[in-house]
Amino acid sequence: MKQIYLDHNATTPVCKEVLEAMVPYFIQDYGNASSVYSMGQKARHAVDEAREVIGNALGTEATDIIFTSGGTEANNFAIKGIAMANLNKGRHIITSSIEHLAVLEPCRFIEKELGFDVTYLPVDKQGMVDTDKLKDAIRKDTILISIMFANNETGTIQPIKDISKIARENKIYFHTDSVQVLGKMPIDVEELGIDMCSFSGHKLYGPKGIGAMYLRKGVRITPFQHGGHHERNKRAGTENVPGIVGFAKAVKIAYRDMKKNDDHLKKLTKKMWEGLNKELKEIYLNGHPENRLSSTLNISFRYIEGESMVLNFDMKGISASTGSACTSGSLEPSHVLTAMGVSPDMAQGSVRFSFGYENTEEDVYYCLAEIPPIVEKLRKMSPLC
Ligand SMILES: *Cc1c(COP(=O)(O)O)cnc(C)c1O
Repeated sequence: MKQIYLDHNATTPVCKEVLEAMVPYFIQDYGNASSVYSMGQKARHAVDEAREVIGNALGTEATDIIFTSGGTEANNFAIKGIAMANLNKGRHIITSSIEHLAVLEPCRFIEKELGFDVTYLPVDKQGMVDTDKLKDAIRKDTILISIMFANNETGTIQPIKDISKIARENKIYFHTDSVQVLGKMPIDVEELGIDMCSFSGHKLYGPKGIGAMYLRKGVRITPFQHGGHHERNKRAGTENVPGIVGFAKAVKIAYRDMKKNDDHLKKLTKKMWEGLNKELKEIYLNGHPENRLSSTLNISFRYIEGESMVLNFDMKGISASTGSACTSGSLEPSHVLTAMGVSPDMAQGSVRFSFGYENTEEDVYYCLAEIPPIVEKLRKMSPLC
C-alpha cells in the first residue's frame, strides 16, 4: 500500500545527507568534545562548526547558541531560567493561549512553585495574538513575554517584530518558540528583536533529541542543568556530537533549499485544500488564510470526529493527526482551536495535514481520491448528520 506521511509538524524523517554527516561521529571521531587529545578536539571542532552554522543562519554569533536536548528543553530553560534569575524584578509573565505544551506547562510550573502570575493572551479567529491586548497585559512586574513564532497545529504566524518592539519598549525579555519556523522561513534574531528562541532538530529533517536555544548576550538566566562546564556553563552534559552535527547539517540543507521547498509546499497545500473543497461540503480551514506556514493545513470536517478520520486515513496509508490531544483517556478538543473560538464539535472534527518537501503532487492526488469517500462514509454513520 502507498504510504503518505503528512505529519511533518510532529516529526520529520532524517534526511540522508544528515545521517551521512552524523555517522563518523558515532564510530570514528567519537571522542568526548571536552578531551584534550586530538580525537576529542576533532569532536570539539565539529561542535564549534555546527554552532557557527546555526549562528550564521540566525544572523548572530556562534557563542549565542546553546545546544539542548530539543525544543521542550529549550522552552523549559527559557521560561524557568528567566523566572529563576529575575525573581526580584517581578513575578509576572505573558504568554499566549495557543502555545505548545512545552511552554504552557513550564508556565504552570512557575505559577505553582514560584508564585508567578501568568497571563495567557487570547487569539482571534485566525489564531493571531492582538498586540493591543499584549500592551494592556504588561505590568510593572512583567519580566518575560513568550509567544510562539508559528503555531504547530494551524501554522499561523505571529507578528513577531511588533511583539518584540513592545517587549523592548517596556524592557521585558522576549522569548519565542520557533521550533516550527527554523528552516521554513528566515529568522534574523537581530532584525526581529528576539532575546531567546527555541529550536528542535527533528522538525527539519534532523535527528530527534537535539535542539538549541538562541540566548542573546546579557540576558539574565539561571541554568538548571548543573555539572561540567559545557555550553558556556549554561547547560551541563557531554555534547551530543552526532546530534549536533546532524542538526547543523539539516539547518544548512533547509536554508539552501528554503525557497524551492516553500514554493513546492505552497503548491501542494493549495492543491489539497482546493481539491478537498471541490469534493466535500462543510469543511473549514483553521488558521490564518495567508499568514501561515506553507506546509500546514488544519481542516475541520463538520459532523465527524478527527480521531475516526485519522484511523480511516491510516488504513489507506495516509498519516495525519488530529488537532486534539488525547489527555488521560478523555478526548479533549484542541486548546489551540478552542482558543480561536472554534466550537467543540468542529475542533473535534479537525485534522492537521502537514506536508514535507518529499511529498509529491501524486501524493495529493492520492489523498484527493481516498479522503472524500472516507469522509462521506463517516458522515453517513454520524448521528450528528
Ligand atoms: C515539536 C515542538 C516542540 C517540542 O520540541 P521537541 O524537540 O520535540 O522537544 C516545541 N514547540 C513546538 C511548537 C513544537 O512543534
